[in-house]
Formats: sequence, C-alpha cells, structure tokens
Amino acid sequence: MKPARFRYYRARDARDAAEKLRVHGRPGKACALAGGQSLVPALAAREQRPDLIVDIMGCADLRDISVSDSRLRIGAACRQFEGEASRTVMDACPLIADALRWVAVPQVRSRGTVVGSLIQANPGGEMPVVARTLDADLVVLDEGGEPRSEPPVSMRQPRAQPCRR
Ligand SMILES: Cc1cc2nc3c(=O)[nH]c(=O)nc-3n(C[C@H](O)[C@H](O)[C@H](O)COP(=O)(O)OP(=O)(O)OC[C@H]3O[C@@H](n4cnc5c(N)ncnc54)[C@H](O)[C@@H]3O)c2cc1C
Repeated sequence: MKPARFRYYRARDARDAAEKLRVHGRPGKACALAGGQSLVPALAAREQRPDLIVDIMGCADLRDISVSDSRLRIGAACRQFEGEASRTVMDACPLIADALRWVAVPQVRSRGTVVGSLIQANPGGEMPVVARTLDADLVVLDEGGEPRSEPPVSMRQPRAQPCRR
C-alpha cells in the first residue's frame, strides 16, 4: 500500500517546527517526522493519514548532545547510533549508551532517534524504561513556543492490547 497524500515541510529550527505543527495541528492532521522508522511504515499502512508532515531532522538546534548543570541533553534530531557512540553520553550516562545497543538493529538505529523512541512510548521499548529509571524529562515547546518539561511516559499511554486466549 502507498501512503495517503500529504504535504511535507522541512523545519528550519525547533520553533519553526512547533509553529507549523501548531497552525496545522488539529489532532492527527499534522505530525513531526524524526527518523521515520515507526512513522513511515504507519503511513504506508495508512494507519496514520496526516495532511502535513513536519521534518525536524534539519533543525540544527535539535542536534546537540551536551551536558549543562549536571543534566545530559539529547536533541530530538539525534539518531540512536549517535547516542550510542557519543563520548558525552558514555561519560555522563553510560546506561543510555548501553541500552541503545539493544534497540532494534544497526540499520534502524542509523535512522531512528532517541526522542522518537520516547514519544512512541512502546511498553517493550528500551528508552522509555531507561528514561523513567534516570528520572529524565522531555522538554516540549508549548503552543506559544515556550519550553516546558514533562516526564516522557506520561505523553502517550500505550494502546491497550486485546486479550487473546
Ligand atoms: C524493525 C524495527 C525494529 C525496532 N525495534 C525496536 C526495539 O527493539 N526497541 C525499541 O525501543 N524500538 C524499536 N523500534 C522502534 C525504533 O526505535 C523507532 O526508531 C522509534 O520508535 C521511533 O523513532 P523515530 O525517530 O524513527 O520516529 P518517527 O518514526 O519519525 O516518529 C514516530 C512518532 O513519534 C512522533 N515524533 C517523533 N519525534 C518527535 C518529536 N521530536 N516531537 C513530536 N513528535 C515526534 C512522530 O510524529 C511519530 O508519530 C524498531 C523499529 C523497527 C522499524
């Protein structure tokens, strides 16, 4: 199957992406594209049919991996393999680098992002449990473009699975 038609926008920076998502953001009508490892198959199966896709991977301000005030920051455009290989991550929080090696296969990690994994909040995923263990926060831009912090797993409840006997 092919994805339904959508418009594509490559955001310049985080505020630009947040603004586009806000303006077009009726629920389900616009969504961010990070590494595409979960979104692209969902589009192809037409499980998601957004009108607009906002690509955040060109946002330079979402690419950093850094430490300040004893907190490790991993930008939303950082791919899983970058986190896995980062000296900064290994020194500041080796659990993250160790856990990333268990996510999928290298081909997926070369495209997928650390933050995309948190947003997906798959109950079997490595990153949500690591984030919970480390008491991590997701920094999200609100509708006015102002940052606020949220615990990651509260952003999306896992879908209830039907019980099969
Ligand atoms: C074959 C395969 C095996 C996998 N195995 C594992 C595994 O073992 N463990 C594991 O944890 N994961 C696994 N995954 C999932 C993988 O880690 C994905 O990369 C991840 O779930 C989504 O990250 P992404 O960057 O590709 O996000 P995308 O696919 O681009 O986006 C996923 C969703 O999150 C939203 N989103 C992403 N980033 C943002 C953002 N910054 N702001 C707002 N919304 C955002 C998108 O709109 C979309 O709805 C697997 C995937 C595949 C294809």
